[in-house]
Amino acid sequence: MKKHESDAKTILKRLGKLSVFLKDLDADAGNDECFNYPLEIIQKTLMFDISVLYKVTNIINDRLILEVVKVLDPKNSRLDLEEGRKLRLFLDARDKRYVNEVNAFLNKKVSHINVPGMGCDVMGYVFFPQDCGGAYLFGGDFFGKEASVKDYEVSTVEIMCNFLSTLLLKTQFKQQAEYDGLTGLYNSRKIKQEVEKLLKRLERKPGISASIVMGDIDFFKRVNDTYGHIQGDLVLKQVGKILSESMREYFDMAGRYGGEEFLFILDETDGNEAVRVVERIRKKIAAAKFVQVDRSGKTLGDQFLNITMSFGVAHFDNPSDIGTMTDCIGRADHALYASKQNGRNRTTLFEEKTSHADISHRGDQNPVQ
Ligand code: GH3
Ligand code: MG
Ligand code: MG
Repeated sequence: MKKHESDAKTILKRLGKLSVFLKDLDADAGNDECFNYPLEIIQKTLMFDISVLYKVTNIINDRLILEVVKVLDPKNSRLDLEEGRKLRLFLDARDKRYVNEVNAFLNKKVSHINVPGMGCDVMGYVFFPQDCGGAYLFGGDFFGKEASVKDYEVSTVEIMCNFLSTLLLKTQFKQQAEYDGLTGLYNSRKIKQEVEKLLKRLERKPGISASIVMGDIDFFKRVNDTYGHIQGDLVLKQVGKILSESMREYFDMAGRYGGEEFLFILDETDGNEAVRVVERIRKKIAAAKFVQVDRSGKTLGDQFLNITMSFGVAHFDNPSDIGTMTDCIGRADHALYASKQNGRNRTTLFEEKTSHADISHRGDQNPVQ
């Protein structure tokens, strides 16, 4: 197989297009696309036969552990580079197939190698801070190329590595700014922004109804006091998982409002429908088995905790219902308070007319065993 020759002028022209393209590439695209685009672009720009992105996972003794994150290999010529596969490479580069990967990692810069008659290989180092997940390697192979890699090809890989680290950081910062690290749900700032957006939209478009829900874990302090903070965190994490799974099924958005308080948005859902949805989630949580750990965080075999949550629902059916965001969240909170007062593990709908919270469902009391 012969490498398709490219020249500096063509590559520069393509890189020009690429910088415009990457500038507009929003971090919203998510990790997958954020990886895919540069891979595709560099393959087309440099005419690589295959291109690959590795994550530097670890170094154990004299081995570098890489995970193949993405690979573009249209001709299926490198069956060893399967996405998700881990490679264990000797740091003294004794495996000739990955000599460039090891060199790029050790020197923290682009490395290239030419094997006459076989082809050549360019590999770059993508800087990514350790506390954000660590480095990546990025590059590709040309097959059957006689001459060595040209300088501008090395520079192009270097430019792409810089683009990639910027994109990865952008995605990471956005993630950190909007999501709660423990539960994976939106953080308080983001979910409040979303409530604000919803209320503005409801004011502009009469006739649409929406509900917001405040949920709070029952007797959570007791979980921490009895089993420790690690157990408490684990419960929060598992509640977050159940909520985000339910979110895809039943409602639009969920966020961690405070310590063990959660706020959801159910767009285009009236109060009664919202109560039905929340009741399903409440029962799901009450039925779930929460993994039990000891104070050091070690899982205790088949021991589980029961956890329950209380909920308050506020619904908005016409623009005159809508006050400030604080008022609206206050209504859901008021209904939640009624759920707590009436025995917990239940859902209460805030009723505007009587300006008090009506009990809509009763559940079991005192769930922590
Ligand atoms: P209620 O049923 O009335 O809601 O009782 P509660 O015990 O759940 O409520 P309370 O407000 O008395 O206690 C909440 C506890 O949540 C106190 C606090 O230590 C704990 N908490 C808040 N954030 C976190 C967290 O991130 N991790 C852990 N482990 N605990 C947290
Ligand atoms: Mg609580
Ligand atoms: Mg609370």
